Amino acid sequence: MKWEGQRQSENVEDRRGEGGGGGFRLGGGRGIGVGSIVIALVGGWIFGINPLTILGVLEGGGPAPSAQQAPAQAPPANDTMATFVSTVLADTEDVWGSVMKTGGVAYREPKLVLFRGGVATACGTGQSAMGPFYCPGDQKVYLDLGFFDTLRSRLGAPGDFAQAYVISHEVGHHVQNLMGITGKVDGMRGRVSETQMNALSVRVELQADCFAGVWTHHSQKGKGWLDRADIDEALNAAAQIGDDMLQRKSQGSVVPESFTHGSSQQRQTWFKRGLESGAVAQCNTFDARGL
Ligand SMILES: [Zn+2]
Repeated sequence: MKWEGQRQSENVEDRRGEGGGGGFRLGGGRGIGVGSIVIALVGGWIFGINPLTILGVLEGGGPAPSAQQAPAQAPPANDTMATFVSTVLADTEDVWGSVMKTGGVAYREPKLVLFRGGVATACGTGQSAMGPFYCPGDQKVYLDLGFFDTLRSRLGAPGDFAQAYVISHEVGHHVQNLMGITGKVDGMRGRVSETQMNALSVRVELQADCFAGVWTHHSQKGKGWLDRADIDEALNAAAQIGDDMLQRKSQGSVVPESFTHGSSQQRQTWFKRGLESGAVAQCNTFDARGL
């Protein structure tokens, strides 16, 4: 990916210097109030956390982030990783701004928070071990850059465009939020069985993968900064974080009813669908009969 020298976003908040390691806890509870849902990239148990927590939730009830946080800072200019993230985020702003406008909707740009360890969010306290996540309550994507090491070395998904896929997947959750999809799905919580909630979660996640593909399509059209190897990096990442792959690696067996993000094949299929069409309408996982 030839990303150097392209526009950077003004929506990156660097909170890596704020510590925040101690004292946080993951809520084990479910069905907590509005805005408590957090949508992560991968099922958390690969990091030793119950996947229900991930889909579910961070306990609310901490102090409002704005009350306790220092003003947001931009990352330093000489930080290559942060510059990369900022450049990808900027392109998602360009693409989604234009795609949503075509659909008659104004695009409200999300913030992207870089953090280390733990971080206060409108969804409760997040932690690095969850992997990157999006909090609908404050419309921010949260990312510990250390995840990219995990992605490369532990999850077997190297490459800058694997990382771009991760960022654009999270931005895809933001697009879902703006479309009202996140709220609708969260409203089902507690009203359907756990298995049904998992199945809904899979559709949410596959749609975010499809949106990542839509972004890739328009991004390449606009900038021509990708080559075939980049697309392969994204497809490989999608496969490596498929629920079946992760379960096989961690527990040796696969339990489809417990999937929350979709199989490797499904994640690749929906990413490709967005990539090839560039059309949001092609990403309707909720009405799709087969995934
Ligand atoms: Zn996700």
